[in-house]
Amino acid sequence: MKHSHPFWQIIRTVPNFPKADIDFYDITPLLWHVDELINELLNALPDGMIDEVECLATTEARGFVIGSLLSGRTGKPLLLIRKAGKLPPPVHRQSYDLEYGTDTLEIKADAPKSKVLLVDDVLATGGTLKASKLLCEQAGHEVLGALVLLDLPKLHSDIGMDTYAVMNDVD
Ligand code: IMP
Repeated sequence: MKHSHPFWQIIRTVPNFPKADIDFYDITPLLWHVDELINELLNALPDGMIDEVECLATTEARGFVIGSLLSGRTGKPLLLIRKAGKLPPPVHRQSYDLEYGTDTLEIKADAPKSKVLLVDDVLATGGTLKASKLLCEQAGHEVLGALVLLDLPKLHSDIGMDTYAVMNDVD
């Protein structure tokens, strides 16, 4: 059954936002269900994988929210990947294409090197996660994979890392 996950009853689909012909999935109503949200994110990972993860790397802004909630539950530290100009030097920098536009992300270059799980809310074209992976690698981290709440598989092909999603917009 299409859209079988119960979270689809909570997420809001907004047609033509922020541009014509784009369906925007507003996941913020799920923040009223934080325990279930974090349970489902952890269930989306293979058994035992979270034990291998030393650090969660998150992108602003909704990635920060989900990453922080996951960090609070698991005790895993956080690496923040931010829009350009927000982090003090030394940083690594990466530009990338968005579903709607381009952007530049940065990561601190001096954090302890660790095995990282990328965390974000939505995987659309994959540009954000691919740039985030490159940034982590430039900073000497090992990327174990990416965990997202919602995967939009029609918008991307292989993004070059293992990805785990609570739900997608196909089934
Ligand atoms: P990507 O780089 O194209 O994969 O886009 C992913 C980024 O854009 C994520 O950080 C999301 O926060 C945001 N994004 C893209 N599409 C949506 C959407 O439908 N709802 C909410 N956020 C979205």
